[in-house]
Amino acid sequence: MFIIDAHLDLSMNALEWNRDLRKPVKDINERELGLSDKPDRGKAVVSLPELRKGNIGLVVATQIARFVAEDNPLRGWHSPEQAWAQTQGQLAWYRTMEEEGEMKQITNRLSLEEHLIHWNDPTSAINTKPVGYILSLEGADSIITLKHLERAYQYGLRAVGPAHYGPGRYAPGTDAMGSMGKKGKELLKEMERLSIILDATHLCDESFWEALKWFQGSVWASHNNVRTLVEHNRQFSDDQIKALIERDAVIGGALDAWMMVPGWIRGKSDPRTMNCSLDKLIDHYDHICQIAGNSLHIGIGSDLDGAFGKEQCPFDLETIADLQKLPVLLKKRGYNDEDIENILWGNWLRFLKKAWK
Ligand SMILES: [Zn+2]
Repeated sequence: MFIIDAHLDLSMNALEWNRDLRKPVKDINERELGLSDKPDRGKAVVSLPELRKGNIGLVVATQIARFVAEDNPLRGWHSPEQAWAQTQGQLAWYRTMEEEGEMKQITNRLSLEEHLIHWNDPTSAINTKPVGYILSLEGADSIITLKHLERAYQYGLRAVGPAHYGPGRYAPGTDAMGSMGKKGKELLKEMERLSIILDATHLCDESFWEALKWFQGSVWASHNNVRTLVEHNRQFSDDQIKALIERDAVIGGALDAWMMVPGWIRGKSDPRTMNCSLDKLIDHYDHICQIAGNSLHIGIGSDLDGAFGKEQCPFDLETIADLQKLPVLLKKRGYNDEDIENILWGNWLRFLKKAWK
């Protein structure tokens, strides 16, 4: 079945993890044997051949670069200008993949429809097809001024999550608190003018509610699970889920183990002993569907290889191609064929067609 994955940090893996994503995952991991500079070395699960193998023909792919002020203990760039430059390097990698015929940027309804026809054309081999990607920005720190947002729109940026972890320049994110303030409000207004999708993921609670109030455009949450099942400010409360459903949002289920099962300890817990399987994602899906009364507001936003690998993934996932196990698992849990199509691609597609009408 065709799949859309609404959150992958592909360029970050290429440039910060030094992974040539044109290669099979096995080759990427072999080359990392002996490296220990990152916790997930040798444990990659994502590459372009694996996306094709899993019939994941459209992804939302990020640019990501944080700014950190002197008092911010998180890792990041010491100026917004450096963060901007980092995102421009990431853009250059996506452009190079396009030149190589490995990827294809999707920016509007026409390119979306053309890509789907090409991807789903059974007369040409899937292993030669470019993976479609919609460019998004995770954390807006790198947007030096609103003029830069307009420039980013011109090179194809179509979704922005104002926040990531910690205090951001435009919005406090996960593990932080407070208002988006004047700058955040101005960012939202400019996003609205440009018809950029708001990604509500990572906004702290206060900013989340402000953003929904201040922003009248299309809202999604690219990779977010449920707070009732795993208590953490990074997850959505039932009230937040309700508000997103009212805005006709789609929420992408994430496959980061700590967000799937309670009690996960980073660097210590093991997916198998914690019983973290793909099926656990369906608990989060079920919860959202119960609130919505239908299956129209969930999708996949796997976040795989988002600074974690196999050590922090469902144990029954070897590579991202194993997302193809989801239809059978969903069926076992009582989802019908139409629900399953909605979840794997239909809901994201409906959302995009509406946002880009
Ligand atoms: Zn994230």
